[in-house]
Amino acid sequence: MLIAAHIIPETRAGVQLPAWQTALAEAFKDPQGLLSHLQLKPENLADRQLAQRQFSLKVPRHYANLMTKGDPHDPLLRQVLPCREEMVDTPGFIDDPVGDLQAKQQPGLLHKYQGRVLILTTGACGVHCRYCFRRHYPYQNGTATPGQWQSILDTIRRQATIQEVILSGGDPLMINDQRLEKMLAELQALPQLKRLRLHSRLPVVLPQRITPELLELLSSNRLQGVMVLHANHPNEISPELAEACEKMRAAGITLLNQSVLLKGVNDDAETLVRLSERLFEIGVMPYYLHLLDRVSGAGHFEVEPDRIELLKRQLLQQLPGYLVPRMVREIAGEASKTPV
Ligand SMILES: *Cc1c(COP(=O)(O)O)cnc(C)c1O
Ligand code: SF4
Repeated sequence: MLIAAHIIPETRAGVQLPAWQTALAEAFKDPQGLLSHLQLKPENLADRQLAQRQFSLKVPRHYANLMTKGDPHDPLLRQVLPCREEMVDTPGFIDDPVGDLQAKQQPGLLHKYQGRVLILTTGACGVHCRYCFRRHYPYQNGTATPGQWQSILDTIRRQATIQEVILSGGDPLMINDQRLEKMLAELQALPQLKRLRLHSRLPVVLPQRITPELLELLSSNRLQGVMVLHANHPNEISPELAEACEKMRAAGITLLNQSVLLKGVNDDAETLVRLSERLFEIGVMPYYLHLLDRVSGAGHFEVEPDRIELLKRQLLQQLPGYLVPRMVREIAGEASKTPV
């Protein structure tokens, strides 16, 4: 369960919230509200409420508006609507499939791969994806508090081989601009760092997060900026996202995308080909296509091995090489993501 304190926007008397924080506060938070917005029958609500206790529903209105009204099998809806299958135990599906709890050398910092470290900046996300391996993550102990932030900086400072810092979470863009500004200022003062990478789904689910202030922050930084988006389906590529990407590119940020292969969402070649093509149209290069992390409660999203093989061949046949995302799996203890 994510911590509510991270989700509530910080307010001070007389200070206007940025529009994106207001929009987040208006996100759908219960299955009934979302289903009725989509003109769908409020079916299986008891099961959905039960599944919500593990991991609550959270869907910004922008994202809901990209779904097709009246379609219970909408591929975007499937990613976010709690359902009965989440309560089924699938053999091999466990709470911490990628071994993050073992890899954690200090709270808020993951150093698994050479030359780059990943900082768990916050437990909050703009959307709650049902397949996410973080659905069981003990965020209360896992993300960097301000005190731990200083010791994370010290750790990085001591390791001359670290060239890249990845801000992840949760979603690092849930952090407000004032705090981000401080963080970036401290990071760019570490002389061995060359690159700053953000892993965020907010541009997709809430493109208005890409504010002029944020762009200024990212572009005025000494570090080379890389933004890795997370879109799984071509219907997630909206005109608003396209505009946000254009601005990010104009600010000198390299744009990549990672997706997760999900049964019933994007497990057919036509959808994946369209996704790559749409991404390229808006200036984003496909980077990774992750196989599902085998996290308990996500068994119904797993694609069969034969089908994975077939998809891999079809993508190679149907796309130019540079638009084929690398199909990878994360295996605990390996020195990199593992190619399939
Ligand atoms: C995925 C991941 C990275 C980034 O790996 P790249 O292959 O460079 O994209 C870095 N650190 C951790 C802990 C990761 O899980
Ligand atoms: S996939 Fe990303 S945005 Fe979705 S719940 Fe997980 S960490 Fe948050």
